[in-house]
Amino acid sequence: ENITVSDLAKELSIKAADIIKVLMKMGMMVTINQPLDQDTAMLVVEELGHIAEEAVEQTKADILKEESVSSIDEENAETRPPVVTVMGHVDHGKTSLLDYIRKTKVTDKEAGGITQHIGAYHVETEKGVISFIDTPGHAAFTAMRARGAQVTDIVILVVAANDSVMPQTKEGIAHAKAAGVPLIVAVNKVDLQDANVDKVKQDLAAHEVVPEDWGGEVQFIEVSALTGQGVDALLDAISLQAEVMELKAVKDSDASGIVVESSLDKGRGPVATVLVKSGTLKKGDMILCGEQFGRIRSLIDENGNEIAAAGPSIPAVVLGLSGVPIAGDEFLVVKNKKHAREAAQEHRERERETRLKRKQAAKLENLMSQMGKEAKLEVNLLVKADVQGSVEALRESLESISNDDVNVNVISSGVGGITNADAQLAAASSAIIIGFNVRADKAAREFIKESDLDLHYFSIIYEAIDQVKRSVTGILGTEI
Ligand code: GDP
Repeated sequence: ENITVSDLAKELSIKAADIIKVLMKMGMMVTINQPLDQDTAMLVVEELGHIAEEAVEQTKADILKEESVSSIDEENAETRPPVVTVMGHVDHGKTSLLDYIRKTKVTDKEAGGITQHIGAYHVETEKGVISFIDTPGHAAFTAMRARGAQVTDIVILVVAANDSVMPQTKEGIAHAKAAGVPLIVAVNKVDLQDANVDKVKQDLAAHEVVPEDWGGEVQFIEVSALTGQGVDALLDAISLQAEVMELKAVKDSDASGIVVESSLDKGRGPVATVLVKSGTLKKGDMILCGEQFGRIRSLIDENGNEIAAAGPSIPAVVLGLSGVPIAGDEFLVVKNKKHAREAAQEHRERERETRLKRKQAAKLENLMSQMGKEAKLEVNLLVKADVQGSVEALRESLESISNDDVNVNVISSGVGGITNADAQLAAASSAIIIGFNVRADKAAREFIKESDLDLHYFSIIYEAIDQVKRSVTGILGTEI
């Protein structure tokens, strides 16, 4: 029925002292070897879960919000340009479309300016400004979203009219959907003989991307990135979509935003392309940028021209940072260097902490849901052994541990050392790895460590069985 403090700590992969602390707060003085009944153990797990979750929440309520001087004032918010990302299958014309728009539409006020790839650019049309993220595909989009940064307002899904819907087209749809970002379809290559626009519409409709003229909500624009046909109509469609979305931001305040690209330049030092989300970024501003900070020595637009300021949705290259930030990092203007340095340090610590807490929260959550009485505990094992006879014996005896409360599944077993593929499989199915008279190779060991997987070596069968029994007992708090 009972589990000792030290066993519970082991099961939760935390220090026993943390459990003792929690119990002390609940008014219970316990020692490390003291057995706890199941209700108490549950309380501890719940309490630890709360603490972990709260910590995640707090770290998520990012530095940005705490440090930002400007509180978003709805009344002062003005219409801002949309930020667009281009997605679609390889060779369907994403790069060609972005290049065509940049070449023909980026206004270069100063003669002799050469458009440069800085990771984003903006164009001025009759209907307003539009900013494009200049890295096509969903890799950058996903990487940023994984870091909690969302800069894209609208996704342009490029589909070649002679090829229709392909795997990466579907991925693009899925990504836009997951991010809650509306799509506009650019049916490209309509200059080709074998272009079949209707087929594209049909195939996309089958994926719930239904054209307006078919009663759906998605704008389909026929274009050719080669001849430029339809590109103006596409820009109009973007402006129209943006209008519907009523995109707004405060302009007259200290800036904050996102890093979209960064590099280390031999001559210029750390170079970061940032996209302003709110406020106006000015040359001379002191900014905090992820873990980096610095006074903006120089602010440059996509034509290589020095600019004095960049407002909402406008990309700009920033020089003067202490180091290279990471794409997806948030930046914001801070008062002074001391402030910035402290905040950068804090940011570093928080990032590390958040990662740890997330891991812990996931683990605890897992265990908590498993500890729910109605649910049966599922224990997955991956077994590798030196000879087939042992594999069979282990598999059989381990699976026979199963009873009314627990299911022990050997999800995979075989002869030979533990390989990286084994470790990956174990990670994917949350399995504990058991090596019987075999070891994990180097790649597997690294992966196991990185992914925080459970690995146990045995050379006596009944010891393996005993250990699995004991951990199951530990979690359930009941004897088997
Ligand atoms: P991405 O992989 O989606 O970025 O595709 P690219 O822009 O690199 O284009 C792939 C190929 O299709 C290149 O050879 C382009 O010249 C060609 N292409 C792109 N757009 C068009 C178009 O509208 N019409 C025709 N005929 N060819 C195009």
